[in-house]
Amino acid sequence: MEFVNVIVNISHEKLDRVFQYRVAERLKDRLEVGMQVEVPFGMGNRRMKACVVGFAAVPDYPPEKIKEISGIVEGSVKAESQMIALAAWMRETYGSTMNQALKTVLPVKQKTRQKQKKTIIRNISREEGQELLKEYQRKHYHAKARLLEALLQNEILDQQKTAEELKLSIAVIRGLERDGILRVESTRVYRNPFAGQFLQKKKEVVLNQEQKETVECIWRDYSRGVRRTYLLHGVTGSGKTEVYMELIARVIREGKQAIVLIPEIALTFQTVARFYERFGERVSVMHSRLSDGERYDQFLRAQNGEIDVMIGPRSALFTPFAHTGLIIIDEEHENSYKSETVPRYHAREAARFRARLCGASVILGSATPSIDSYTCALAGRYVLCRLSGRFGDARLPKVSIVDLRAELKEGNYSIFSRKLKAAMEDRLRRGQQTMLFLNRRGLAGFVSCRSCGQAIRCPHCDVTLSLHNDGRLKCHYCGYETGMPALCPSCGSRYISGFRAGTQQIEKEVKKLFPQAKVLRMDYDTTRSREGYEKILASFGRGEADVLVGTQMIVKGHDFPNVTLVGVLAADLSLYAADYRSSERTFQLLTQAAGRAGRGDKAGEAMIQTYVPEHYSIRTAARQDYEEFYSQEMIYRNMLGYPPAASMLGIYLSACDDAYLEGQAEKLGGIIRRLRTEGLAMIGPAAAALSKKSDMYRMVIYLKHPEETVLFGVRKQIETILEKDAVWQKLYIQFDYNPLNAY
Ligand code: ADP
Ligand code: ZN
Ligand code: ZN
Repeated sequence: MEFVNVIVNISHEKLDRVFQYRVAERLKDRLEVGMQVEVPFGMGNRRMKACVVGFAAVPDYPPEKIKEISGIVEGSVKAESQMIALAAWMRETYGSTMNQALKTVLPVKQKTRQKQKKTIIRNISREEGQELLKEYQRKHYHAKARLLEALLQNEILDQQKTAEELKLSIAVIRGLERDGILRVESTRVYRNPFAGQFLQKKKEVVLNQEQKETVECIWRDYSRGVRRTYLLHGVTGSGKTEVYMELIARVIREGKQAIVLIPEIALTFQTVARFYERFGERVSVMHSRLSDGERYDQFLRAQNGEIDVMIGPRSALFTPFAHTGLIIIDEEHENSYKSETVPRYHAREAARFRARLCGASVILGSATPSIDSYTCALAGRYVLCRLSGRFGDARLPKVSIVDLRAELKEGNYSIFSRKLKAAMEDRLRRGQQTMLFLNRRGLAGFVSCRSCGQAIRCPHCDVTLSLHNDGRLKCHYCGYETGMPALCPSCGSRYISGFRAGTQQIEKEVKKLFPQAKVLRMDYDTTRSREGYEKILASFGRGEADVLVGTQMIVKGHDFPNVTLVGVLAADLSLYAADYRSSERTFQLLTQAAGRAGRGDKAGEAMIQTYVPEHYSIRTAARQDYEEFYSQEMIYRNMLGYPPAASMLGIYLSACDDAYLEGQAEKLGGIIRRLRTEGLAMIGPAAAALSKKSDMYRMVIYLKHPEETVLFGVRKQIETILEKDAVWQKLYIQFDYNPLNAY
């Protein structure tokens, strides 16, 4: 091919298009789609890196205007053409530059130094060696003697290990090498993030009836060449992971590979160990704490076909397997599957697109499916599979609701209800463990009434207002604001305030109430490092504490058979997060938290303390009744036009100058209104939840429409309009479909 199409490595909308270059004769055979090249760019012919996205036999421009590429970037990682297609789709779907999209799907950019394993091999005969050893000893060459002695015992030694064990400097080894007594050989080794940590165990697993049916249902399609998306709705402890592993084993037998996405927080030693025990060395993990070298090596191992299973968070979706047969997204309801940087993609959607490119099936698994996925399943876009019982003799816990308003009335102002306190006492006496869970999240506080349980809400958007530092209450969607009332607007009580208890305070309270109890605390403070997190879990697992206090991070990833009591201290906290998904999140957190109890052979119990015991997300979570929760929640979404009843597009605007930002935001609002798109609802422009960050002022506009495709169209129109006029140049704009968190 004479010409090559490239994307230049610049994140600027104006330059975000394909540029064409000529290929020199000497490079013609070497160039492939996905390679990194260097090209002369712009007026000064500055050398820039670029990514090859295609070839052309005939030029799109007058040939005399086309420059020649300078060369191939040696040592760069070649992207699969599939990944480039994925990037192009992301750019189209979520709104970003091609360059940002490419950076997302190619998480490993540059080759890192290869790791070498060096072995020392004896180069002389045993007899010669023994002679020489005597000479060394005579001359008091102690270090040389130690090394030679070792070589006489073992002809081949690992250089690093030998040097460490015998306390030798590398110079000693080099010396013997120079004298021809030994030789050193290097072999390429991959950094293995958990080398030697696990043993492969052959555990005989016999699937129970429900598990078997699920496997067969998915496998029937797969073996007939039918590829679909399955939503596996299985209660906590029902054996979803066993189902995944059985299907992975079958896919591997067909010569294909599997990607397993797990939220980073649940990616613990225990989870990885289960996969490792089953699939051995052919499993790898990616997570944010791997070094660049480790990451790069996992990437290469996948590309070279040396592993079959990749486990990791969102970004593991871009593992360069040649024949991906199965993509699993465990805990599919988790927010961490949505990217919070541009392109703001959702792993679920991206997985489905990738699966279509490579002919894979997708399995979404959860005990509490997202409202979005469940809607797709009911509409027949996904196939719904169910696991309704816990495996073996384990029973779902008995859940009860404790009304904190009643406690208050009877004069109990403590964070513990009398019932929870009594249950904890009982567990301490019996030597069983308790988990106390505080489901707080989000940056901003809210204001609620301890007498009637009501939080103060936006009259326009029906989401909770956030308490800001200036003491005002604000809506993150429409910008409505009001002062702090002195009395509860619902019941007139003066027990109205922001909720401020943290995990530390709870830990203190537990120690005060039960001085004899050993307490562990797990929150962002105590788990800054990954080791901290694993250490606390392991210590609790070994029974070194009676009570574990923590935020939502304690509800994930570990089985503790001796935990028979889970206390949720204030279930309402997540209910008041200032966005339309707060009830969904509350239901999920409560169900998952309760699911921690009774994982072993002892029966479990969960207590949910709340000021709003009548709220449907709390009542249905206590009964573990997903269907009922779903139908209640859909009434709210339909009424207010929130996803999935309608599609929503967040438009995030930021600029250095606040007057300019406000002016442009108003102008953009006007432009959108003048598009006169039928059925389009606009909220804002309004100040963002975080109205200033890193010296940039921020505003938001939200659009809602029943049809997602209409919002795509509106976004494109906005992009075109903004490109045409220089007045928009100082405005940064980001798009976010079905946003999860307030901007
Ligand atoms: P989930 O992922 O749905 O929470 P798990 O796969 O973790 O459930 O299963 C819960 C527990 O039950 C695990 O300890 C698992 O090893 C065990 N288990 C589930 N199914 C089987 C089976 N068929 N045979 C043996 N053990 C099983
Ligand atoms: Zn009240
Ligand atoms: Zn509002």
